[in-house]
Amino acid sequence: MATAQPPYFGAAYYPEDWPLDQIDTDIDLMKQAGMNCMRIGEFAWSRMEPEEGRYDFGWLHTVTDKLGAAGIAIILGTPTCTPPSWLYQRYPECIAVRDDGVRLEHGARRHACPNSPAYRDHCRRIVTAMATEFGQDSNVVGWQIDNELYVVHGLEDHRGCFCDECVGKFRSLLQERFGTIEALNAAWGTDLWSQTYQSFEHIPPPRSGTWHHPSLLTAWSLFQADSYVDFADDQADILHRMASQPVGTDMMPTLGLDYHKMHRKLDVVQYNHYNLPENLWQCGFWMDMVGSLKDAPWWNIETSTCWNGSTAANGYREPGFCRVNSWLAYALGGEANLYWLWRAHWSGQELMHGAVVSAQGRPLHIFGEVQEISRGLSAAGEWLNNTRPARSGLAMHVSTVAWWTFAHQAMVKGFGYIDAMMHRVYKPIMQAQLRPQVIHPAQPLDGYRLICSPFLPVLDEQGLRDHLREWIEAGGTWIVGPLSDIRDEHAAKFRHAPFGVLEDWAGVHCRYEIPGDPRDFGLCWADGQTSTGSIWYDGFEPRDCDVLATYTENPLEGLAAVVSRKLGKGRIVMLGTMPVAADWQRLLLDQARSVDIAPVAEASTNLLVVPRVDKAQAGAPDAQTRGLIVVELENRSGTIGLPQSATDLLTGRKHSGSIEVAPYGVMVLAH
Ligand SMILES: [Zn+2]
Repeated sequence: MATAQPPYFGAAYYPEDWPLDQIDTDIDLMKQAGMNCMRIGEFAWSRMEPEEGRYDFGWLHTVTDKLGAAGIAIILGTPTCTPPSWLYQRYPECIAVRDDGVRLEHGARRHACPNSPAYRDHCRRIVTAMATEFGQDSNVVGWQIDNELYVVHGLEDHRGCFCDECVGKFRSLLQERFGTIEALNAAWGTDLWSQTYQSFEHIPPPRSGTWHHPSLLTAWSLFQADSYVDFADDQADILHRMASQPVGTDMMPTLGLDYHKMHRKLDVVQYNHYNLPENLWQCGFWMDMVGSLKDAPWWNIETSTCWNGSTAANGYREPGFCRVNSWLAYALGGEANLYWLWRAHWSGQELMHGAVVSAQGRPLHIFGEVQEISRGLSAAGEWLNNTRPARSGLAMHVSTVAWWTFAHQAMVKGFGYIDAMMHRVYKPIMQAQLRPQVIHPAQPLDGYRLICSPFLPVLDEQGLRDHLREWIEAGGTWIVGPLSDIRDEHAAKFRHAPFGVLEDWAGVHCRYEIPGDPRDFGLCWADGQTSTGSIWYDGFEPRDCDVLATYTENPLEGLAAVVSRKLGKGRIVMLGTMPVAADWQRLLLDQARSVDIAPVAEASTNLLVVPRVDKAQAGAPDAQTRGLIVVELENRSGTIGLPQSATDLLTGRKHSGSIEVAPYGVMVLAH
């Protein structure tokens, strides 16, 4: 049979857990489920290399050949997340060391040190052997490097590995960056608390239990995160040299790693998520991020069918959830949706997770829903392949540097970076039916007309400050703050002003900075509406700007809370406080309108509406709309006013005007 084509629909499959003749039974069931893609191999190192240097790929060839013969495409994982026991016995230095000095033991996953030379050697060896075997296999449509790379270990704050190799490498990197220890002391301001170092060798790995310097903590966390990028690059180089298929790595909903950096060498963005019914909308945030990393479709590599669970099942999902959770990925530019997992494990650490079929091979209650999704993909597949999500010209920044800066300096009690970005910034944007891209500081700004950068403490990141200034002066509108541009590249405050450049750019002088704990402060907008801010309060004296909101309570009374200033052909809007959701929406819609960005439809807040444009025109500002995908996120009905009549490819029915969308309903509305 010909190799399956996108859209890919399938699951993770662990044939190493079963007798080889089981595969025929499984393939029969996969075909019944309507699946065309299986992801295999990611943890099977000990089956591929039972002892050092002795490889056994016969069983894996049987699996890939049989799946391929059934028209099921394969995404092949490199198994480096789970090094085999013989490796641990012979080269214990491969395994990570916690911050209390204890080396982890064999048996878990993601427990090796990304910087261990021995581990890296053995990883290169197994990846080379796999690429030799499968690099030209036409049934294999992609590679997944390792599994869920992120900074783990430590005892506190996911601080990473504290082995001698990591500590030595960290000190060498600091030496490379600063040149002399005196330069590091000056940049970090180590005179305070007698922290001045005499040598790079004296810089302590920031173990828990000590109140460490935030410059040290941030530098250490970013070093640990970059170590995983370097680790993945290593495997990508081998696969690019030896294999013909696209290469990616399956990422988690975390910004602890810089995913933009991670994808400089990778070809396809892969993503895993396990959102619950109450936070399904958050998929939008992450998918708007993964979808912006490359100008190409991405793959949803893992999600649950009906509940989560490792040792304890949790988060049962109501009927319809599987449908809407699966379609979300396709709506937002994914060309694959794979479940974790196909057949529930019969042994091991994760016995209780939801699946497609049980360990005994009995279809779970969602099997019919899975079949329905497959039928829908058959009906809409060609249209999906020929269209892409429209790009609106609106973006919001997220940053790994911000993630770690706030992780080590929360700034105000109760503040959590990712929570604020999702709940305070993204959700009101989404519910206003504006479609943002979520971008990293190093991503190009061309094509955007409105960019929001709240909670971006380090502005001088990867050249962003200069790019932004050029972009604004060329006509862009930039909404910035609160808590943006308040730290230098070493996570320290500026000494000339509370901001690096923002006072100058926005034409203000910041008189007071006040935390939003334990209470919020009142403000009045220019149109007379009264409200409060939230989280943080900078009170500005306007020097050369328009005032959009003014504080009404002492000690901020009379000071500006939100200002706007023309800069070249563009505009900067500076927030001294985070407006509440309704005010944030209003401000955003105003600014969007001024740069010709409009809500994509008039629709209830529980609907995600994604306009799709012709694939060939994707990215062009005037790309022709080919239709909409509508996804209901909250298991209640919603309404949408269709801008033009359209046919739902899932039902064949024609719709126009204002229509109702069923609870957990999905519509693929082609013009
Ligand atoms: Zn290490």
